[in-house]
Amino acid sequence: MAAKEKYAEPTYLECGFGELEHKVISPEACCRCGTCEAFCPRIEHKENRPALVDYDPLCGLCFAYCPRTFLDMGEMETKLFGRTRNADEALGIYRKTVSVQAKVAAVRAQDGGVATALLVQALQSGLIDCAVVTDRDEEWRTVARVATTAEEIKAAAGTKYTISNSVFALKAAMEKGCQKIGFVGTPCQIQALRKVQLLEEPYEFGQKKIALLVGLFCMENFDYDELMEGLVKGRFGLDPKDVSRFEIKKGMFRVIDKAGRAHEVKIEETDEFTFKGCGPCFDFASELADVSVGSVGSSEGRSTVLLRTDEGEKLYAAALAAGAVQEKAVSEKGLALAKRLAQSKAKRFESKSEEMKVGGINR
Ligand SMILES: Cc1cc2nc3c(=O)[nH]c(=O)nc-3n(C[C@H](O)[C@H](O)[C@H](O)COP(=O)(O)OP(=O)(O)OC[C@H]3O[C@@H](n4cnc5c(N)ncnc54)[C@H](O)[C@@H]3O)c2cc1C
Repeated sequence: MAAKEKYAEPTYLECGFGELEHKVISPEACCRCGTCEAFCPRIEHKENRPALVDYDPLCGLCFAYCPRTFLDMGEMETKLFGRTRNADEALGIYRKTVSVQAKVAAVRAQDGGVATALLVQALQSGLIDCAVVTDRDEEWRTVARVATTAEEIKAAAGTKYTISNSVFALKAAMEKGCQKIGFVGTPCQIQALRKVQLLEEPYEFGQKKIALLVGLFCMENFDYDELMEGLVKGRFGLDPKDVSRFEIKKGMFRVIDKAGRAHEVKIEETDEFTFKGCGPCFDFASELADVSVGSVGSSEGRSTVLLRTDEGEKLYAAALAAGAVQEKAVSEKGLALAKRLAQSKAKRFESKSEEMKVGGINR
């Protein structure tokens, strides 16, 4: 055997959970999306991390769809969009961008209430038969849910700035018999589910049930214990139960309490609470989603929406036609700001991925 072949990197089919543990979980590159836990019956969520609970026959699927193993964006873009991005497409490939507001936003909606409105539209039109959403408990711990009614989708509106293994709830959705699953989440979660969906595997393990991916913009996410202990309780003296909303606006991380008082710090001052597994991530705008939604680029009470695929475009057109959302153009200044943030996340990724020795992620 030639030396090159002998020492070639193993393919994912030669990698099992051991490799995932060694390359992703132990070095704390794991983003805790919950994908390995959702699709493999031998992996469970234990002590707040993926854990192997049964014999691993080295099937390698967990390694294949993890967003932190290998991620060839050129290959993914070609499969999904039929081309790779141009150098000036800092927000990834999209067909249209608009600044959008839900006509009747859910009570807890973060910005334009658009993520919620699109999922409700998708459910009511039959594009999906459930939506996996990320709700919260009284103390702002994330709780992923399988929503099968518009009310359940609306109840989960609003941003929880803490890590959530929300993809794990796809397992519950499949167990419930859902055949067309919609999902809303952060870029890492969207990358993982798109990897699952596009993986060329001859057998069915749930990949065909992923029907819609609504991605959120995300600069970084936070560790629950560190954010609550260090910032909410430690710095602001607040009980998480007394928080009505978290938001990031104009460079400030803001906590609004139930009496309506705002407590804020500069966003840089929250760096110490950033989840370590966010380090190896370049993706600000959920570049592999059907439709991406974020606040940057739009004015208060609106969301910036990027329509990327046929599914995303059709869903948005249906929501517009039904009067569920209303749109206006995104300003050039707003779009430029979103692009700058995307570029700065990509730049941060370059240094972090080297520091954390994460290989195989090619933007
Ligand atoms: C961790 C995080 C960081 C973000 N950072 C940015 C940023 O830097 N710049 C920016 O422009 N926008 C950011 N966003 C997106 C922004 O906060 C709003 O989610 C987005 O503008 C959609 O607003 P909306 O009113 O349309 O959503 P809503 O209608 O309120 O719906 C929001 C949806 O987000 C889901 N969700 C909430 N929290 C989580 C979570 N932790 N994990 C997965 N899903 C969740 C819920 O299921 C809900 O369905 C971030 C979101 C998250 C979760």
